[in-house]
Amino acid sequence: MPVEVDARIKEIIQRSYNVKSFRLEIGDWLDFKAGQFLMVRLQDNPKLEKYLSISSSPTEKCYLEFTKKLTQSDFSAALNNLKSGDRVKIKYPLGQFILDESAPKVAFLSGGIGITPIRSICKYVVDKNIGIDMVLVYSNRSIRDIVFKDDFSAMSKSYPLLRVAHVLCEAEQGFKCTVGRIDAGVIRNEIPDYLERKFYLCGPPQMVEAMRKILAEELGLSSGKIVTENFQGY
Ligand SMILES: Cc1cc2nc3c(=O)[nH]c(=O)nc-3n(C[C@H](O)[C@H](O)[C@H](O)COP(=O)(O)OP(=O)(O)OC[C@H]3O[C@@H](n4cnc5c(N)ncnc54)[C@H](O)[C@@H]3O)c2cc1C
Repeated sequence: MPVEVDARIKEIIQRSYNVKSFRLEIGDWLDFKAGQFLMVRLQDNPKLEKYLSISSSPTEKCYLEFTKKLTQSDFSAALNNLKSGDRVKIKYPLGQFILDESAPKVAFLSGGIGITPIRSICKYVVDKNIGIDMVLVYSNRSIRDIVFKDDFSAMSKSYPLLRVAHVLCEAEQGFKCTVGRIDAGVIRNEIPDYLERKFYLCGPPQMVEAMRKILAEELGLSSGKIVTENFQGY
């Protein structure tokens, strides 16, 4: 059952040129599942409310983190002005973008800021050493748009069952990636055992729908093997 609670900004982390993470200290800590989201309200103003995925894992007990792509909106401006110690209201846990721990092999397809709940899920599996085999195919415009790049690289080093394949629109010298967009060919190439996996798709609604169609119509996955989270608003 989601509950509204007071939170205090503990730390702010610049993740890329236009993405920041906000770590919150919560008085009344509630349990949540990796992949769920929260509602955050700034300045106690209902016009400054957004749904944002929790990017931290339930194993990271000292804070709750969300990560926002900053735009020209009033909400982004207000968020960008926050400092450590400031107070916000949040409501959580929300959503069903949750890992099926009975699936031995999973794959994540994501673009841009859609990585946030996937970061939470991967960190949870790695910290708990759950033994699920995970492949992430992560698409971005350029290398500077990749969020949590070092984090994923560290996770895949400590947990060999996590493999990350980057897809970029622009080639980057010295950086291993596929140039282009995620399509059926990229999925076949990066995830040859795709028929054995449960897929988790997250990002802007158009991207999620395009990925779902590729999996269902071109690659023959049944709907029960595809879990989606739409970032309405992009
Ligand atoms: C379940 C769920 C989880 C989500 N998780 C995340 C997450 O983890 N991270 C995340 O970043 N987003 C997430 N989103 C999306 C998020 O809720 C917002 O919809 C999204 O971030 C856009 O909000 P915004 O304040 O940037 O822009 P909006 O206010 O929605 O504006 C949309 C666009 O209009 C432009 N715009 C708005 N006002 C102005 C202005 N005054 N002048 C010029 N341009 C303007 C903005 O630049 C922006 O590009 C999630 C959504 C859902 C539903």
